[in-house]
Amino acid sequence: MSNPFESVLTQLCLVQELIHLDDNIFKRLLFPERVIEVSIPVKMDDGTTSVFTGYRSQYNSARGPYKGGIRFHKDVSLNEVKALSAWMTWKTAVVDIPLGGGKGGVVVDTKTLSDRELEAVSRGYIRALAPFLGSDRDVPAPDVSTDARVMGWMLDEYEHIVGYRDPGVITGKPLSLGGSLGREYATALGALFILVQAAQKLHLPKNATVAIQGFGNGGSHAARLLEEAGYTIVAIADSKSTVYRSEGLNISEITEHKRTTGNLKTCSGCEKLSSEAVLSVPADILVPAALENAIHRDNVKNIQAKLIVEVANGPVTPEADAILYNRGITVVPDILANAGGVTVSYFEQVQNAMNYMWTEEDVKNKLKEKMETAFESVWDTKERYNTSMRMGAYAFALTKVAQAMKDRGRV
Ligand code: NAD
Repeated sequence: MSNPFESVLTQLCLVQELIHLDDNIFKRLLFPERVIEVSIPVKMDDGTTSVFTGYRSQYNSARGPYKGGIRFHKDVSLNEVKALSAWMTWKTAVVDIPLGGGKGGVVVDTKTLSDRELEAVSRGYIRALAPFLGSDRDVPAPDVSTDARVMGWMLDEYEHIVGYRDPGVITGKPLSLGGSLGREYATALGALFILVQAAQKLHLPKNATVAIQGFGNGGSHAARLLEEAGYTIVAIADSKSTVYRSEGLNISEITEHKRTTGNLKTCSGCEKLSSEAVLSVPADILVPAALENAIHRDNVKNIQAKLIVEVANGPVTPEADAILYNRGITVVPDILANAGGVTVSYFEQVQNAMNYMWTEEDVKNKLKEKMETAFESVWDTKERYNTSMRMGAYAFALTKVAQAMKDRGRV
């Protein structure tokens, strides 16, 4: 598997050729400010001790405290966490929220853990990293295989260690602990606002067909919201299979079936295909919402979509990205398309700081405004440099990060 941090560096060099940042600032952007590796010993249910490896990469804090999720996955690596933390830095800049970029992860297959063991891993991660966290220092959130329940345990552990309440130290919390209304589906809702604008620019019909790779937090909410908005979802994939129906799938049926059985439904008129097939079915729009590097040199030729909206982080390798650009396929990059999650995370922190919670409508309206403004800024930058949306987003974001570094004298 290719190294996602190499992709980060490749992207950075490409954008530097376009915007020519100050050399000293650019050099600093090639490195995370700090990476931390910790061991997390856990007493397992059978009485043995397992030691899990955890990471936190604090990439850049020029624009505000480090911000980024915690991923629990068996393939988590330091390079992956570093890459994700860099993307968070650009993402918070694209949507113009006063935060930097960070990311964390634990090498663990959560499917092998009991609830008690999962809680012990979550609390152990925070115990190991507490000195580096804080609402004004570094603010974690959920990512792959972590959720509000995990955030609740983590908040409890952190507040127990420091001895005071600090709800803004972590976002994506349960509502009872200061979570924001709308946070659970914020990534998908943000992606919907962006997808609608991109589809308009490309003159795609209002009922355009969509294929979605990944049916977890990002993918399943995206499917529901896109269906509600009038799009026709023709294919959905999880890690085991793709379900495809050219006339459109019934999302609530599939969601219910997945919830109760863990599998995607085989309904009448649906074809059950390989997991990878979702990338090549006929659809106007493709939404990768699984893991990074899903679209690469070897499978990019199979893509039929006119528009790709990256709900996942880093789903297209730089090589595939260049091929898509040359084929005239528009790719809305992750740092714009999936920034709804971190934007509502920021709203959650603002509400925690005010100790006053907004209505769901307030959250949705504020998110729409942020996403639409970010889309226009990226689109204008892309037009100005006559380049791809990814390069436009990077040019816009890196210029903002570089300005903050310069203003701090970090040159
Ligand atoms: P999740 O664990 O809830 O879901 C991941 C989904 O991807 C699962 O349905 C899994 O079966 C599927 N999957 C895994 N490998 C696959 C494969 N090879 N082919 C098809 N499907 C596959 O994770 P999530 O929170 O939905 O995150 C998905 C992506 O979105 C990640 O890249 C994450 O970093 C990104 N993201 C998530 C959020 C958020 O708020 N959840 C925010 C920003 C970005």
